[in-house]
Amino acid sequence: VPPRAGVYISDTRMDDPVTPKVNRRTKIVAPVGPGSDSEDMIARLIVAGVNVFRLNFSHGTAEHHATVAGRIRKQANIAGQYVGILADLQGPKIRIAGFRNGSVELANGDRFRLDLGIGEEEGDIRGVGLDYKELCNSVFRGDTLLLDDGRIRLRVDDVENNAVECTVLMGGVLSSRKGINRLGGGLAAPALTTKDLTDIDSLTEVWPDFVAVSFVSNADDIYQTRDLLAEHKLEPAIIAKIERAEVVADQATLDGILNAAGGVMVARGDLGVEVGDAQLIGIQKELISRARKMDRVVITATQMMESMINNPMPTRAEVFDVANAVLDGTDAVMLSAETAVGKYPVEVVTAMADAALGAERQAVARTSRYRLDRAFTSAQETIAMSAIYAANHYSNVRGIACLTESGTTPLMMSRLSSGLPIFALSHHSETLQKLCLCRGVVPLFFDATMFDHDEVEPNAIEFLLDGGYLLKGDSILLTRGELMGKAGSTNIMKILPVP
Ligand code: PGA
Ligand code: MN
Repeated sequence: VPPRAGVYISDTRMDDPVTPKVNRRTKIVAPVGPGSDSEDMIARLIVAGVNVFRLNFSHGTAEHHATVAGRIRKQANIAGQYVGILADLQGPKIRIAGFRNGSVELANGDRFRLDLGIGEEEGDIRGVGLDYKELCNSVFRGDTLLLDDGRIRLRVDDVENNAVECTVLMGGVLSSRKGINRLGGGLAAPALTTKDLTDIDSLTEVWPDFVAVSFVSNADDIYQTRDLLAEHKLEPAIIAKIERAEVVADQATLDGILNAAGGVMVARGDLGVEVGDAQLIGIQKELISRARKMDRVVITATQMMESMINNPMPTRAEVFDVANAVLDGTDAVMLSAETAVGKYPVEVVTAMADAALGAERQAVARTSRYRLDRAFTSAQETIAMSAIYAANHYSNVRGIACLTESGTTPLMMSRLSSGLPIFALSHHSETLQKLCLCRGVVPLFFDATMFDHDEVEPNAIEFLLDGGYLLKGDSILLTRGELMGKAGSTNIMKILPVP
């Protein structure tokens, strides 16, 4: 299909036959929505480079999400690729109620009330309802409230029993059910809402590889979610969305959350509104580095290529935003409305992939001094770190083949920067699905139990050669456990020629 006139065309050139297959290390998470949830679109998005699809439970019905999940699995199969599914629970996002006419236009200096007594669809230019009962206990005179991701700013003048009286500091169009945040944080409700609980029940129809918990306050939110999922025999990796100012302000809470979860999302939409963008710059870097230190995956999200909702090309600032997250060390970058409702879903994924590639070519993204001064705590970690160190220093190897059960060894390897692909070879599809989010890891189905002990390595090499991941004459670094079939038993590293 020739590209449409005026749309984004990839400028990435592939310089040898192997590179295209293992080219990009940074993973792309993209939501599917009304603009992109058809079979055809899903197939095209996979080709363009989506590694994980997000089902956003803030919108749509559980039945529809299950249908879309089916389409994703089917298209991933057709493409012969591992593609993950992330179910993103809505969480306790605090929102205004509705306006009689759908929206109002607020001018600077207007008075505006947030009033628990105004009916669900009864809002007008003077005020709007909301069902957050705690409002009047959580805000104070002089506070700044941010509506619609900060597009509208209100100053609190007076707190009454059931209402808050405000002055509009920055006006604009405000439509029904927009989110509301307080500058500095502090508008908080328990993480799992009744809707989230029902949505968790519905996940037996989705079998997600990842479940994202929104507005996480502490590690208990994660444990509770894990237990609820386990009741349905679901064991996805849990992604904690970091989007509350209170959480990033407290190191112990944050570490507790990182410990409990399989990964975190730098949820810049809500977090940025609460802490301010200037603060967010440092927080993004700190969160990414913290996650990597603790062997957790990390997604950087929101407004990465916002202008491509309506435009066929990203702005240079957006290209650099993606690149910057990649240089910060993120595992994945995430789109939002760009693919859910935007006009150019395929083009935005292509543009994002190109931006990531550009960043990955930089030397800082390929080498690492990280953990050089750290004592390792297991044979597995020692092998994982040694393999990356060797690969980064011995230019003759094409990649690292990692025979894995639980996926921990490739995860650890990918916490270090390197230019070489980590081929995760496993016969556990759950393991391979979760590695979809892991930077630099290429998950591949390889059943080592089919071969005699001595035949595993030559067969692994042949498998990679057949798949076009290696060329004759290359060398490869291989790691495995002496006793196959046991998680955590990796204790061997070899350099093997490709005959
Ligand atoms: P959301 O989460 O898109 O579900 O709000 C991401 C964010 O807040 O950045
Ligand atoms: Mn959010």
